[in-house]
Amino acid sequence: MIGEKLIFERGAPGRRCATFPMAVDSGAAIPTTMRRDIPAALPEVGELELVRHYTALSQMNFSIDTQFYPLGSCTMKYNPRVHEKAARLPEIAGLHPLSEDAQPALRVIWEMEQVLKAISGMDGFTFQPAAGAQGEFVGISLIAAYHRARGYRKKVVLIPDSAHGTNPATAAMCGYTVQAIKSTARGTVDVADLEARLTDDVAGLMLTNPNTFGVFEDEIEKIAALVHGVGGLLYYDGANLNAFLGQCRPGDMGFDVVHINLHKTFTTPHGGGGPGSGPVGVTKALLPFLPLPVVAKKGGAFHLDFDRPQSIGKVSSFYGNFGMLVRALVYAEMLGAEGMRRTSEMAVLNANYIAAKLHAHYDRPKNGQPMHEMVFSASRQKKANGISATDIAKRLIDFGIHPPTIYFPLPNVAPETMLIEPTETESLEQLDVFIDAMIRIAREAEENPALLKDAPHATPVRRLDEATAARKPILRWKRGATATAVQKP
Ligand SMILES: *Cc1c(COP(=O)(O)O)cnc(C)c1O
Repeated sequence: MIGEKLIFERGAPGRRCATFPMAVDSGAAIPTTMRRDIPAALPEVGELELVRHYTALSQMNFSIDTQFYPLGSCTMKYNPRVHEKAARLPEIAGLHPLSEDAQPALRVIWEMEQVLKAISGMDGFTFQPAAGAQGEFVGISLIAAYHRARGYRKKVVLIPDSAHGTNPATAAMCGYTVQAIKSTARGTVDVADLEARLTDDVAGLMLTNPNTFGVFEDEIEKIAALVHGVGGLLYYDGANLNAFLGQCRPGDMGFDVVHINLHKTFTTPHGGGGPGSGPVGVTKALLPFLPLPVVAKKGGAFHLDFDRPQSIGKVSSFYGNFGMLVRALVYAEMLGAEGMRRTSEMAVLNANYIAAKLHAHYDRPKNGQPMHEMVFSASRQKKANGISATDIAKRLIDFGIHPPTIYFPLPNVAPETMLIEPTETESLEQLDVFIDAMIRIAREAEENPALLKDAPHATPVRRLDEATAARKPILRWKRGATATAVQKP
């Protein structure tokens, strides 16, 4: 009954109300008019019930630790446990965030910068952005500062129609007008469409490579020369870096600014919007604008350099999500240059294995050779039996598999898309389980479409109305109860 005691010992005598010690101790500071008259109706439970409740909840979680997670563009690879050990060392976890002269911590940031410079071909990095999206905001702000310093007020950012939604959102947030560039039948940038849109008003082009069809932009050098030709800069969305990590570098392709999602390529955990890490790297010409401070090395010692008059300012608290840098550095050190190359080779091999096996069963809206991820479409199933990408995604859940990314690339670019990214950390056996499930679902679409329309069948809640579930989530859960309020009629 230890748990009981812990929870209830501070309760008012005679009333078994669950009041936590903190609340009692700080209660005196709360004005009487604002204090509650009756105790809160908290559940009265013992430790065992509590443990069972949370264990049951944890087992309803879907994660890379439990099941296959081919969520395209998100690079859901295994997060090695050794990273956690390193990040939890008391010397690291206990470091005060305001310590400005913790030499080993500054060294971690500095060494991570050397790693990212080597793999990206950039000349310097900021580690403040807490995600790729924030990295984009910082990167485009840097491009704006660069043009401003030269006396230009350029108005347009060009972005391929297949791009991730954060790209146009970022450009718009930074005050630019967005113009979409068409994709070719292969899925790459339509260079003629790009050329037609190039004017002196173009501040830059945001590009993911390989793009979100999983296809490498093999005309990238020509594209870079065209954009640079009108005084624009190239922004590299590094979400798909896992496709050529250690093999080629965005800097050599002509990119001026990059962000790298450490929680994708460098296996630091993705966490429901954070804490992630989206460091931004730039070429020499943009170094003066980087957020301050940056870590610098003088003699054998490191320091935080605040002396940057042209900096766009501070963009995050402290120096970013430092624990993520520890994890990413451990990952990089363990792999080394050879390991990184092997990582991307295996990621591409795994994706191409799936692409080849599913080729006969699903349409591919773009015909370019995929790299680390591929886009299939449910258009054939839709035409024949009214089965959508959503139906296929929901049915996959019954097989214990996380759905791929669906409807991205967007329906106006390609119909009923399913973006599949297996990553390099999955075994051949697991890939075969996924392939078998996808083939079986294609057969079910023909023989028993109703089964797919009703899927998932094996989950605590069935098919949800996703808009209602997102806008009015039911956050209470009771064993045996079903979330009928958000279930489709
Ligand atoms: C994930 C992703 C982003 C955004 O990165 P976050 O770290 O999730 O903010 C941007 N572009 C592409 C292509 C992505 O896949």
